Amino acid sequence: MLFSPERTRWPGEGCRTVPLSGHVGFDSLPDQLVNKSVNHGFCFNILCVGETGLGKSTLMDTLFNTKFEGDPASHSQPGVQLKSNTYDLQESNVNLKLTIVSTVGFGDQINKEDSYKPIVEFIDAQFEAYLQEELKIKRVLHNYHDTRIHACLYFIAPTGHSLKSLDLVTMKKLDSKVNIIPIIAKSDAISKSELTKFKIKITSELVSNGVQIYQFPTDDESVAEINGTMNAHLPFAVIGSTEELKIGNKMMKARQYPWGTVQVENETHCDFVKLREMLIRVNMEDLREQTHTRHYELYRRCKLEEMGFKDTDPDSKPFSLQETYEAKRNEFLGELQKKEEAMRQMFVQRVKEKEAELKEAEKELHEKFDRLKKLHQDEKKKLEDKKKSLDDEVNAFKQRKTAAELLQSQAQQAGGSQTLKRDKERKNSGFL
Ligand code: GDP
Repeated sequence: MLFSPERTRWPGEGCRTVPLSGHVGFDSLPDQLVNKSVNHGFCFNILCVGETGLGKSTLMDTLFNTKFEGDPASHSQPGVQLKSNTYDLQESNVNLKLTIVSTVGFGDQINKEDSYKPIVEFIDAQFEAYLQEELKIKRVLHNYHDTRIHACLYFIAPTGHSLKSLDLVTMKKLDSKVNIIPIIAKSDAISKSELTKFKIKITSELVSNGVQIYQFPTDDESVAEINGTMNAHLPFAVIGSTEELKIGNKMMKARQYPWGTVQVENETHCDFVKLREMLIRVNMEDLREQTHTRHYELYRRCKLEEMGFKDTDPDSKPFSLQETYEAKRNEFLGELQKKEEAMRQMFVQRVKEKEAELKEAEKELHEKFDRLKKLHQDEKKKLEDKKKSLDDEVNAFKQRKTAAELLQSQAQQAGGSQTLKRDKERKNSGFL
């Protein structure tokens, strides 16, 4: 058989189907893949969102048949925090690196407006870490610890009424970033008829608010039927308990109350088994795949577009990474030049303004000086006038005084000659 490039193409793309005349061996490819994956191990990351005390930790312990460490969270957290723990689990020869992330303090604050933000930031941070690893020149994606969230179990309080606005807002903010599986927590607190109505109400509220929850895939024939049936049971009403009680002659996970016992794995009591089947046994791989192909892809696309990368130019022609880099570099240099020019203009403008300000201040100072000088001259003139008038007054006073003194001495002289004359007359008349 001669090699022709045409024969290497896939059906539907212009290639020919040719029969094999003997066993070649590539039918072992799926086994090779399975062996490789099993040797490598798997990782699965679950995010539990829900108010403190809704049974998140208990449900995780029940789902994975173990006791993950951790103290009960307090209700007095100032804000929402995300607590992440990773565990290595083994079942048969399959290794699973399981990460459980739980919201601590969710729904405990008076103002719950921003409660969704730390969750969104956490999910984005895991996408960003993966993207950064992907963009590295020397990347190690094959043994990179992927922390992207594969499933978000959203715990709904068993109120029997409707979803709280906090639930709707949070789910709406998360639905494009993660596979949301809503569950009614502590469903032993709600009666059977109430539960049916509650499920219908929740579903209609999710639909009317445009919240996209994860749908178990129905495109794979082997699981289409079960997944289709299970989609109709969402949101699952679950009960958690790690306590084992003897029921009949079997030990079973249950919660015991004064009026009876509720069995966690009894499908007439709750949907715990449905959740475990769907989340772990049937759709774990789909959840991982959806995370990569849908949610991460969306994050990556937005992020790269934000950074200026694009696949085609405005004329829809392919745009290479090199061209994108150069276009971005030129754009950056252009912007830098524009900024430099703007700064220079601003500097010149500021200098001009400062000069004008200084000139104005100088002018004002001159005017003030002139004003003060004039004031001083006026004052001086007034004082000189006053001095002159005082001098005149003093001179006039002196003149008057001299005249008065002259008059007084004349008067005294006149008085003295009269006395002499009188004495003489007396003497002559013989008085003396
Ligand atoms: P978390 O704060 O959401 O992690 O809640 P926990 O798992 O610590 O559970 C808080 C309390 O609720 C504990 O006393 C659990 O025993 C109890 N609990 C957990 N699951 C259930 C359930 O399904 N039904 C009922 N009635 N109680 C539960």
